Amino acid sequence: MSRTAVKLAERRPSRKVMVGAVAVGGDAPISVQSMTTTRTADVEGTLTQIYALAAAGAEIVRCTCNSREAAEGLAEIVPRSPVPLVADIHFHVEMALAALDAGVAALRLNPGNLRKPEEVKLVAREAGERGVPIRIGVNAGSLHPDFAAKYGGITPEALVASALYELDLFHEVSFDDVAFSVKASDVALMIEAYRLLASKVDHPLHLGVTEAGPPPGGLVKATAGIGTLLAEGIGDTIRYSLTADPVEEARAGRQLLEALGLRERKGLDLIACPSCGRAEVDVIAVAGEAQRQLEGLGLPIQVAVMGCAVNGPGEAREADIGIACGKRKGSLFIKGKIVRVVPEERMVEELVAEAKRLAEEGVEARLAAADPGAALEAARDREELLRLQGGDVNGASVKISRIRSRSEEG
Ligand code: SF4
Repeated sequence: MSRTAVKLAERRPSRKVMVGAVAVGGDAPISVQSMTTTRTADVEGTLTQIYALAAAGAEIVRCTCNSREAAEGLAEIVPRSPVPLVADIHFHVEMALAALDAGVAALRLNPGNLRKPEEVKLVAREAGERGVPIRIGVNAGSLHPDFAAKYGGITPEALVASALYELDLFHEVSFDDVAFSVKASDVALMIEAYRLLASKVDHPLHLGVTEAGPPPGGLVKATAGIGTLLAEGIGDTIRYSLTADPVEEARAGRQLLEALGLRERKGLDLIACPSCGRAEVDVIAVAGEAQRQLEGLGLPIQVAVMGCAVNGPGEAREADIGIACGKRKGSLFIKGKIVRVVPEERMVEELVAEAKRLAEEGVEARLAAADPGAALEAARDREELLRLQGGDVNGASVKISRIRSRSEEG
């Protein structure tokens, strides 16, 4: 049986904003963003990181613009960057104007930190003249105190009110080239704030759980917040805020979009069973080594590593290629069909070699090259495994005899 395509909620209609050549919102694919951790004045260091982020899947990169040196750095970085750059602005109106002079593709303004209405309007006017969009980036940690006071604390309503107040200021100077974010480190607060904002504006939304922390906890929090909203059709561009190498952020963003079927797979998708008492090989080691070697190939391929032949090919029949481990042997399968049986010590090697051949020759050719005796050999292996382990998958008979002997002892 083939898998039925499951669709998430319809995407919320939004207007389109251009960040350089990258469209955000409307029918544009949901994009991945990240932010550099270098000093922006360090031109070569920042560019090296931007290239690494782009290679990992970032389509828009943000750099802080917090000093004149940073702005001058941006002037040199912008023309050499492989992706459009956004200048991150807090506190200083001069930095926003300097970033525009440096040629950035967009600005991010934090309404909690750049508060004077005249300064906000000046930036919007200057950005409008250059055709540069602005993200109104509200952050729970730096919410303007007036909104917290009015709404009784840092609430979804307070975050959204701050964002909409900034938009009103922009409208006073006829500027509407805007995207929004209402981030919080509290996942539930962030989700509710975005839901509320999505019901009030049609501008594109940049999703993020701010200060999510180091992986794995940070990945879990960010995925909980961003993934929930994306599944509801909310969100046009995303950023993981991890306390880690930003390459991890870009990679995670890309993987989330691919996992939800919102972007085409570009790289490896490894399906691996968690292993259990049935496994007769070290599944965790085999899967880890397979991932390490296959990631380097850069192939858009789905690979399965299953701990036993009992559930292996069946559970992963949609995978392009996979291995179902047996007793010191593994059944190599393509699209659920067993093509070869290989010894344990050559499992990863064979998997990688077959992945390369599959990419070069295609599924039909590789199925045609299958070992005709493989299915029978795998079936015998499976029978042998079942005989050794018994048909009692849950081990109930062992438990029952243990219970009985205890009660007899008692
Ligand atoms: S595939 Fe086999 S080894 Fe892996 S979790 Fe399932 S039953 Fe256990």
